[in-house]
Amino acid sequence: MSRIAGVWRPPVIADATNGGFDGLHRSAISAGGCRLRAGSDASEIDRIRHACRMAASSPNCVMLHGGRTSANSDSPMAAPCGSVSHDPPTIQVFVGRRINLLKKFALLFGLLALAVIVGAIALYKPVRIFAPQFFGLTCVSEKLCIDDVGRLEEATELLEDARRFVSDELGSLKAELKVLFCGTRQCFANFADPAVAAQYYWGARTLLIGDRATPYIIRHELIHHWQNENFGGPNEALRLPMWFLEGMAYSLSNDPREVIPNAEANGQRTRFLEWQRTGGDWRTPPRQ
Ligand SMILES: [Zn+2]
Repeated sequence: MSRIAGVWRPPVIADATNGGFDGLHRSAISAGGCRLRAGSDASEIDRIRHACRMAASSPNCVMLHGGRTSANSDSPMAAPCGSVSHDPPTIQVFVGRRINLLKKFALLFGLLALAVIVGAIALYKPVRIFAPQFFGLTCVSEKLCIDDVGRLEEATELLEDARRFVSDELGSLKAELKVLFCGTRQCFANFADPAVAAQYYWGARTLLIGDRATPYIIRHELIHHWQNENFGGPNEALRLPMWFLEGMAYSLSNDPREVIPNAEANGQRTRFLEWQRTGGDWRTPPRQ
C-alpha cells in the first residue's frame, strides 16, 4: 500500500495484463481513485497511455507514477499525463480531488504554524531578537543591527572599546556575538523591559543595547558573554550562583557606582568582593 493510499481509501486497481483500461476513467471518478499497473510490454504501455489521456481529460484528474521495480514504487510522484514514458512500469492515476484535500490540509497546517510563530513574536518580546528587521532595525551585517544607521560608527566604537576592555581584563572573547543597537527607548521596548539599559541573551548569544547603556554597562554585559563562553555555555554557566555571575560582572566591569540602585545587585557585588577577599578567584567559579 502506498503512502498516499494509506491516507486515502484503497484505490481500485486495474491491471493491464488482465484486461484493458476501458472505463477506468469512470471508475476513477466513482471510486475516488484508481491505480494503473502494467508490465513492460509495449501494448500495455499503450493502454496506459490511453487511460492516462482519458483521466487527464478531466480537470480533476492527475496522474501519479512510480517504478514498480524500484525501491520507491510505493511512493508515487505526481506527473502530467504527457510525461508517461516506457520507464515506469507502474502508473497510478488518482482523482485530483484527493490531492486537493491533501493540499488544503498542508495549507491549513502551514497557516497554523505561521499563526503560532506570529503569535509568539507578538506576545513574547525576547523572540523578536531573532527577527530585528521587523522591529525597526537595519542589520548591517550578520552580527550587527542598529535602528539608526547614521550612528553606526558611534555604536561600533562603543562596542569595540568594551570588547577590548574585556579581552584585556578577562581574556579574549572566542566568538563574535550578535549585537542589536537601539538608540531610542521605544526601539528597546520592542525587545525587552525598557526599565533595563541593556540585556544579554545567554541562549542566543545576543546583546541588546539601549539608549541608556553606558560603557561600563556594555562591559558588564560582555562579561556575561565571556562567562557564557568560558563556563560551559548557558546550561552550565547559569547553574553557577547568581551572586557570582552578577557580582563578577558588576565588579570586573569597573562599574563606578558606589551603591547600585538595585539592592539585590548591590548585595551580589558585595558578596562577590567578600568572596574574593577570602581567596576566591573568578577563574575558578564557586559551585554554590
Ligand atoms: Zn548582569
